[in-house]
Amino acid sequence: MAAPKKNVKTASTSEPKGGAVVKKVRVATAWFDACAGCHMSLLDIDERIIDIADKIDIVYGPLVDALEFPDNVDVAIIEGAISSDEDEHKIKEIRSKSKILVSMGDCAVTANVPSMRNQFKVSEILDRGFVENATCHQQHPSKDIPHLLNRARPLHEFVSVDVFLPGCPPPADAIFFVIAELLAGRMPDLTGKTRFGA
Ligand code: SF4
Repeated sequence: MAAPKKNVKTASTSEPKGGAVVKKVRVATAWFDACAGCHMSLLDIDERIIDIADKIDIVYGPLVDALEFPDNVDVAIIEGAISSDEDEHKIKEIRSKSKILVSMGDCAVTANVPSMRNQFKVSEILDRGFVENATCHQQHPSKDIPHLLNRARPLHEFVSVDVFLPGCPPPADAIFFVIAELLAGRMPDLTGKTRFGA
């Protein structure tokens, strides 16, 4: 899925003045209904992370200890489908606080594996998990938990997406390419670099 060619403004594109420190690009990652495999692939960029470490600040995500999604994020890289009311609230918050949103992996792009439950009613899924397969306390959870939406759905059905990065998971090379292109102020063209189910 090729993204349109256009220049993008990330913090790295700001001009250094008189030896002033160039502002680092604020990068956040998050996962929703997912298996974490896309984040594992992100970590598989291995030593290349050293090449970009001095250009970015990771300000939110499972790799850092931040409780609240911060303001003024330059690039948000998101894994997983939207499956609950809490997911929906969070992805809209992320979108409102991020300049560029990357939909990373087939679960984010198409709902993929989480959408396998879409053929069933929510009540049937809860019955299966909490009544039929429970050996004690058979009941639907009802307090202090997110409520499942009727269907697991991809990110772009809730918010605008700037970069679609398919794959299950996307190859580390493709993830690194996206980050490197965005750091260079370009919108990545992923033609030939990944595919659904890759
Ligand atoms: S796209 Fe594949 S690797 Fe990524 S979260 Fe979904 S199932 Fe896991």
